[in-house]
Amino acid sequence: MKKFLLSVSFALTLGAAGLPYWIEPCEHKETGCAAGDVELGRWALEAWQSASDGRLRFVAADRDHARLRIVWALPEQGLYGETVPIEVNGKPGAQVNVRIVAAGGGDRLLRDTIVYLTCLHESGHALGLAHTRNFADIMYSFQFGGDIAEYFARYRQKLTTRDDIRKNSGLSAGDRAHLMETLR
Ligand SMILES: [Zn+2]
Repeated sequence: MKKFLLSVSFALTLGAAGLPYWIEPCEHKETGCAAGDVELGRWALEAWQSASDGRLRFVAADRDHARLRIVWALPEQGLYGETVPIEVNGKPGAQVNVRIVAAGGGDRLLRDTIVYLTCLHESGHALGLAHTRNFADIMYSFQFGGDIAEYFARYRQKLTTRDDIRKNSGLSAGDRAHLMETLR
């Protein structure tokens, strides 16, 4: 468990109507998901949207119309997560497969940190962002080394309650700049 497995970088063309997304309800308990993970995924999308200076607008849709899908994956379906291109009604889309890591030693907020940051990282790929070498970035890749536990702990330390996740986007100045470059 050393890195995000896949870096797919492709831009989603954005219409004025916004970008339809869908997050899988937690129905397959074998993935380790929890009902609240849907909210964590939504917060991750909201973080990118807030950073986009109005250029990005996510709109909830049903699965078949969603060009960005977040799905809870089985443990054997990749490490932390991966983002793969899909086609949705003839348009490019992305499916974000998030693997729930059974970690945290009973620390629920650490567990939620990992789910949230994985959603954030992978949805960044869906938006066309590539990996960086900067440990401060959510788009940092563990393939460049660094302490994975420290990476998650750094964010976890900002949290007192689960609601604090919403107040701490996890995006660095570099991530924000890369998003704006991608959306330009
Ligand atoms: Zn990645």
